[in-house]
Amino acid sequence: MADPKPDHADPSINEKLADQIQREWLFFIKRLPENTIARLGAVKFTLLVLQLLLIISNHVYHLGIWAVFVRFSTSHRNNFNQAVYHRTSGGLDFTKIASLHLWRGFVVPSLFGCSAYVITALLCLRHELYHWKPELLEHYGRVVSESRFGFLIPKRWLDFCFQVYKQKHEEHRSNTIQPADRKHDALRDTVEFRRVLRQVGINLLVSVPAIFTMWMALLQTEIETQHILELPRSYVPPVQGVVWYLINDMFYFYPHWIAHSSSLVASGPSPSNNNNIKLPLPRPVLRFLHKQFKESHRLHHRCKANIGVAAWYCSVWEQILFNLFPALVGPVITQILADLFGLSPTWGTHLVTLYVWIAAAAASSVLAHTGYRSMWNDPGQHDLHHERAFDPKAACNFGTFGVFDWIHGTKSQVPAKDAAAWRGQRDRQAALWEAAERSGVPLTESQKAVVKQPVHDGKEWVRKDV
Ligand SMILES: [Zn+2]
Ligand SMILES: [Zn+2]
Repeated sequence: MADPKPDHADPSINEKLADQIQREWLFFIKRLPENTIARLGAVKFTLLVLQLLLIISNHVYHLGIWAVFVRFSTSHRNNFNQAVYHRTSGGLDFTKIASLHLWRGFVVPSLFGCSAYVITALLCLRHELYHWKPELLEHYGRVVSESRFGFLIPKRWLDFCFQVYKQKHEEHRSNTIQPADRKHDALRDTVEFRRVLRQVGINLLVSVPAIFTMWMALLQTEIETQHILELPRSYVPPVQGVVWYLINDMFYFYPHWIAHSSSLVASGPSPSNNNNIKLPLPRPVLRFLHKQFKESHRLHHRCKANIGVAAWYCSVWEQILFNLFPALVGPVITQILADLFGLSPTWGTHLVTLYVWIAAAAASSVLAHTGYRSMWNDPGQHDLHHERAFDPKAACNFGTFGVFDWIHGTKSQVPAKDAAAWRGQRDRQAALWEAAERSGVPLTESQKAVVKQPVHDGKEWVRKDV
């Protein structure tokens, strides 16, 4: 490393050095792990790790965790059924329940789905609370230290905590996609926050009977009858995942698009192509559906900028129609098809794949609503949907996968461009830090704050004026 230069050295030297560093292949290699995660996001990254574990288990070394779980849950279920059967002394025949495999097919996936939602929401909330202004916290700190019991808390501790918070607050602001003043009411209003928690709690409970119904449907097929102790073949879950994702996209897209298509009830010429719905359904039916869906969807769109925990802040009917049905119908469809064509042993829905799918769907739902871009999550696509929700000229991104948005021309290019620009800024920042280390010239304040949320220009929006 070069000798440290005095403070008044030309800071543009770092810019030139950073240009050169960004062209070095070693820099590209160094940035690769972080950039790969930033492109994939937490959910896809976890799925990739699980896929690698499955390949190892299939081809290199058998990981017997699943077999242990099956044996354990079977013996647990049998013991439970026997105990209950003896106690009821013939009143109710609980042996019938034994054939339903309720532990593996209903209890465990329900737990997976609900806990994935709750854990992801709590992790996101940890960041979202950095939204509060540090001035307010400073005021509370002063009140505490000036109180009668203030002498019990060392001032240095309070100052340290405050500094950490201030730093996190800055980071939060620079990663928040929409302006900070648009944040969800729940972060300002305790009553609204409690309302969100109550409705989300109800919707989490609603997901339990929905998973039960899905399991009852799956039990009408040959599920769990063959090779129960084996994990699926490694090539099956990725194919099923894509098919389920497409099915989820389709069943989410259409009711969602109808809910936002205000042109259905507008008099006169339609203001936009985006909402100019063309579906093989009679207009009065579409209009009726729009009225029903829009009313209930308004609750979900109370705020332009959302928070993770409010992902399932919607009416119970919307939860069933928009969130649960699209996610749970895919595994049932593929299992029925595999059964019909006699492919069930290989291509049938495996419970392990189902667990991962349910947990991933719940976590993705939360992550799509954080409005906070980080290395682990980019909610840009759905965030833009919330930003323009009921703007008849610019509403977009009604699906999850984006395929049906692409087919109907309602997909916006803005989120992908923003994410690419943001990753470019992160690379530049890393190159600048390395340049400062090499040249010994400290970075200027503006050189330290290269990473900012790209502000999307009105012109970049897919405004389709007719
Ligand atoms: Zn949403
Ligand atoms: Zn919407």
